[in-house]
Amino acid sequence: MLFQLSQDPGHLWKRYGIALSIILAFLLASHLIESNALQKAKRDAATIELSGKQRVLSQQVILFAQTYVSRNDAESAAKLAETLDEFEAAHLTLMADAAREASLGRLYLSRTPSTDEIVRNYISLGRDLPNAQYPRALIDELKAKGSGEVLERLDEAVKAVDARVKMQAQWAQTLQDLTLVLAAMVVLLEALVIFVPAHRAVNEAMQDLRTTAETDPLTRLRNRTGFDKDIIEAMDARKGDDQPLTLILFDLDDFKGINDRYGHITGDAVLRRLGYRVAKLPNLLSAARVGGDEFAILVDGDHWGQNESLSRIADDIRTTKDFLYHPINHKGQVINVSGTVGVSRYPIDAKDLKELRRNASASLLDAKRRGRDGLTIYNARIDDIARRRRTIQSALMSRDYEQDLKVVFQPLVDADSRKIKSVEALARWSHPDLGPVNPMEFLAIARESGIGQEVDSTIRSLALSQIAPALNQNLIESVSLNVSPLYLATEGFADTLMTMIESYKIQLDQVWIEVTENERLTSMVIARENLETLNQAGVRIALDDYGVGYSNIQRLAELPIQRLKIDKSIVQHIEENPKYAGVLRSSVQLARALGADVVAEGVETPGQLSKVELIGCKLVQGYLYFKPMPVTECMDLFKQRLPSVA
Ligand code: C2E
Ligand code: CA
Ligand code: CA
Repeated sequence: MLFQLSQDPGHLWKRYGIALSIILAFLLASHLIESNALQKAKRDAATIELSGKQRVLSQQVILFAQTYVSRNDAESAAKLAETLDEFEAAHLTLMADAAREASLGRLYLSRTPSTDEIVRNYISLGRDLPNAQYPRALIDELKAKGSGEVLERLDEAVKAVDARVKMQAQWAQTLQDLTLVLAAMVVLLEALVIFVPAHRAVNEAMQDLRTTAETDPLTRLRNRTGFDKDIIEAMDARKGDDQPLTLILFDLDDFKGINDRYGHITGDAVLRRLGYRVAKLPNLLSAARVGGDEFAILVDGDHWGQNESLSRIADDIRTTKDFLYHPINHKGQVINVSGTVGVSRYPIDAKDLKELRRNASASLLDAKRRGRDGLTIYNARIDDIARRRRTIQSALMSRDYEQDLKVVFQPLVDADSRKIKSVEALARWSHPDLGPVNPMEFLAIARESGIGQEVDSTIRSLALSQIAPALNQNLIESVSLNVSPLYLATEGFADTLMTMIESYKIQLDQVWIEVTENERLTSMVIARENLETLNQAGVRIALDDYGVGYSNIQRLAELPIQRLKIDKSIVQHIEENPKYAGVLRSSVQLARALGADVVAEGVETPGQLSKVELIGCKLVQGYLYFKPMPVTECMDLFKQRLPSVA
């Protein structure tokens, strides 16, 4: 229907089109009628003019007829004949006009005798004159007909034509007025019925567009733009109010891994599900997806007051986090999700949007660094940490780090023989100003700065050069090198490593590499290729930090693994928590099934030692026996049988 309201912009344009067509049709019709009337008026004017001419010609006919009768000369006769011809020609034209114009034609022909007959009669009278016996009587007849019947008929016709022309002019004027009125009405109607709702629809569309620009299409939550707007609004509304606003950032762990494992469609479904959960959180002022796998919420100030203890807030947020990251059931698959959280509060630790966002991001980064599942509420320490990171980073980038880089070795002790079977090489680095920096910390910073592989390789080369004599003399069976999964999944890694090992005259089967289970492999395919190449050449593979984190059975099945290293966080709770004893027990069983051995890492007490031995760990590493030490200290130990510690 033409004027039915519709939100569909397509319909709207259709309606515009129809309305405009109506106006155009009116204009066209009025123009046609008018030009038609104009043409007619022109023709009528010609007819009237011709009738006037007939009147003159008929008088001339009578005049020349009289001259001819009185003079009886050839010249007058010729003039009479000429005028008659002209009169006849004009008459024929008039008759043709009359035939075309039904009303005029009727006027000429309807009455008896018809105008045509009278005029023709008149013309033949004039023609007869030169041959007539009594021309004076003919002239009288001509006079009577000319000024009477003929002229009267002509006048009548002219009057009728004139009247019609006037009427037509009037009609054209009326039509023109009517068209104008109609056009005005249509325009008015348009304005009222179409343009007003159209304007509304356009407004709505604009609003929609604006909302779209502020909405995340996947989750229907706000996007960063929309979220920032909400934060600013909330801040403005809160001026002078001391109830803080809390910005909480949630970052999903290993979303890439979820995408790799389940595919992008499922990845999207996971994000949508998380978005749905985020929207359900209590006390929300706004909720958004602010990055690929990053969500953010703004929590009402009344929720946590100015003096609320951080530990209460942290507890509350942990509950929120547990709700957000409980496993997702998607098409029969259970997908485990976890994430880190960063928090900042306005106006407690930030005075504006920029600072609030920056502090929340810094907190999130801190939480991430502190491991999976972390939570950090912004505090002054965070800025110190950021500063420290920058200091470490610039030192690493300057390449001077090499002279402060050291490697220490921590023995792995055989539980039965109590002899040192092997050593794990561990990196040590001291910053000139900051002092010793934890390897996890500086290696992570090196990785983030893009020089991780280089640093890793420098450490390996240093370790191999220092431990080569012990291996060459067969004082120990092997050395373990830590390898970041990031580089394990790099093409050519295996060959480079083997070349390096051989350059120190070390047998390939004297080397183990430890791959942490805590980080995802960027490419499983390349990692497996590298590991298989190494394995076939004799290098053996240990899965490090086993029992925490991903514990991915599939990875165990896919990769060639000869050793599980049980993470120290499990060993350290083995005495008081039966759950950890269970993990260790099942790990030992799993290792047997894989044909691998088990190393218990981080054994600090005799109690832990007897427990891990009881469960079946044949190899033990920990402060109870040895802390990591420089190679010079190791060399003496390698030759001894260790005293009993249990
Ligand atoms: P990791 O591979 O799990 O190494 C074992 C860590 O446990 C070492 O920490 C070691 O000193 C510590 N440890 C050993 N026994 C005990 C114990 O009884 N109690 C306690 N509390 N800790 C014990 P470290 O040397 O600080 O290394 C930390 C992590 O840094 C390593 O964990 C490893 O992931 C990484 N890392 C160290 N050196 C290198 C390296 O050269 N390359 C790579 N890629 N990573 C390295
Ligand atoms: Ca290790
Ligand atoms: Ca470990």
